[in-house]
Amino acid sequence: MILFKEAAPLSKHISKLRDKGNSIGFAPTMGALHSGHISLIEKSKTICDITVSSIFVNPTQFNDPKDFEKYPVTIGSDISALESAGCDILFIPSVSEIYPAGIGKAPHYDLGEIELLLEGRFRPGHFQGVCQVVHRLLDIVKPGKLFMGQKDYQQCIVVKKLVQLLNLPIDVITVGTYREESGLAMSSRNLRLSKDEKLEAAAIFKMLQYIKENRTTNPHSTLENYAANYLIKSGFRAVDYVSIADAKTLQPTSAISEGIKRVALIAAFIGDVRLIDNLLLDE
Ligand code: AMP
Repeated sequence: MILFKEAAPLSKHISKLRDKGNSIGFAPTMGALHSGHISLIEKSKTICDITVSSIFVNPTQFNDPKDFEKYPVTIGSDISALESAGCDILFIPSVSEIYPAGIGKAPHYDLGEIELLLEGRFRPGHFQGVCQVVHRLLDIVKPGKLFMGQKDYQQCIVVKKLVQLLNLPIDVITVGTYREESGLAMSSRNLRLSKDEKLEAAAIFKMLQYIKENRTTNPHSTLENYAANYLIKSGFRAVDYVSIADAKTLQPTSAISEGIKRVALIAAFIGDVRLIDNLLLDE
């Protein structure tokens, strides 16, 4: 695995590989890697000749400065994990390498209504930050395929929209969510949970499954309320949302909407750690 810290030599290196006919797969991350991240690398390796990853904790996508400050950093073990997974190229840039003109100088993206729903509603500015960093990284790496986790369901929709807006020749490939045995979705933020909190946090997946099992017999609002109350009783401090939504647009759906594929999405806090997860209901 070759490690780059600067954008220009990385672009040049990848461009040479591309010119030789290699397909380029890219899985960007914020580090504190777990098996979910590694599954993106593995997927890329089955489809692409060269797999590139990046580790960059992007300050512009954190609406809560404390969340940014406390974001786990495990760079040494991340490098070993990527190396073992067979990642070919790793990019670990500084903030000035990603935002050479300075933070706050990045463009604004017209994402439409998706930006105001769910994560967008509770984390204002988050998706603009995501688009800023993804746009810059795509410009540097220029992959043919971009690998993203379904765990961040709304992010996948937003990034597909970004790729469309920018008219880039990139396939965005969504990779299924990797979970702990308890059902808890793997997340870098899980490192901030105590052993007991980790057990309690499994209630999110339990409720997503409950919603899926009961989706035909109960109104959506009843299921959403039941799940939110259950989370609070299970030790969650606050629930931002439980939403049964149109899987394409994330607009709320009613129980009678026929033929529309749905997804259940949850965001909730254990202590000051915010967790998100989702489950497709109609597959
Ligand atoms: P992050 O480091 O949290 O920005 O995540 C980097 C990439 O890994 C994103 O595309 C995430 O959706 C994906 N990812 C995070 N957690 C998981 C998981 N449990 N399973 C699969 N992919 C994941």
